[in-house]
Amino acid sequence: MYSIGVDLGGTKILTGVLDEQGTLHHTLEVPTMATDGPDAVIHRIRGTVDQMLHRVGHANVIGIGIGAPGPLNPHTGTVLGPPNLPGWDHIPLRDKLHEVYGLPVYLENDANAAAIAEHRFGAGQGSRQMVYITVSTGIGGGVVVDGQVRQGAAGGFAEIGHMIVDPAGARCHCGNRGCLEAVASGTAIARMASEAFRRDLTAEQVAELAARGDKKARQVLDTAFSYLGIGLVNIVNLYDPDLIVIGGGVARIGPPLFDALHEAVLHNYFRQSYGMDVPIVPAHLGTKAGVIGAAALPWLACRTAVDSHPC
Ligand SMILES: [Zn+2]
Repeated sequence: MYSIGVDLGGTKILTGVLDEQGTLHHTLEVPTMATDGPDAVIHRIRGTVDQMLHRVGHANVIGIGIGAPGPLNPHTGTVLGPPNLPGWDHIPLRDKLHEVYGLPVYLENDANAAAIAEHRFGAGQGSRQMVYITVSTGIGGGVVVDGQVRQGAAGGFAEIGHMIVDPAGARCHCGNRGCLEAVASGTAIARMASEAFRRDLTAEQVAELAARGDKKARQVLDTAFSYLGIGLVNIVNLYDPDLIVIGGGVARIGPPLFDALHEAVLHNYFRQSYGMDVPIVPAHLGTKAGVIGAAALPWLACRTAVDSHPC
């Protein structure tokens, strides 16, 4: 048996077929073309799902999981209007796909989906209390406790990117000041560097310059990493995790980032009294984490199902 996962992003839709052991059998990527609006995007999602069903056979599929940008409500299966999906104002994506295919459909925040994937099949295997953080153009996260991703009352949980780490810091697109995402994401690194160098630079270019010993670039990274460290200390104090997994493009900077984060957590004076070190490790599944996690949703529902689930 198989499940189908859809990783719906602002720029691309990645759809794949997963078996229960976590092996991805087929994948298909198409551009989202988000400006066309929800109907056109859902039509493209269906195009990819149709192809997957054709490949493995409808009768062999237990369900469809979708990872989508927040805000969304996983309980009602509704996408609530993410900034990178224009026109998606309370779109019942789960029900729309269920009506077409007659299969169980699950919707989850994309960062939560990636957290599930890393926990089940990636860097977080065996962890009982795992925090996953993705640092790329934005910052997101998920908390997995005893194999289940934590969900809040309104479906929003672990919005780590909008934790305020500097009330006098840069304005976030959410309206607040000094959100972790506004001061430590790849976008924030690029912005700070462009101000310091007076030319446009990507976060990747900043990392390259810093690796070659450029002091200004290193300073920009140090600033971003120190904010990430503050965020991490808050997370450790809140969740008491046994493992922190860091994914996203910025994690590819590698040792300079992980050393800075270890240092920050090591100097977390409250936590020190427990005499425990929290491992901080890179994610394993890369850009496939989202689609694998989305496809894992029907399997997770299977394991907890009490009704007549097709699996
Ligand atoms: Zn914010």
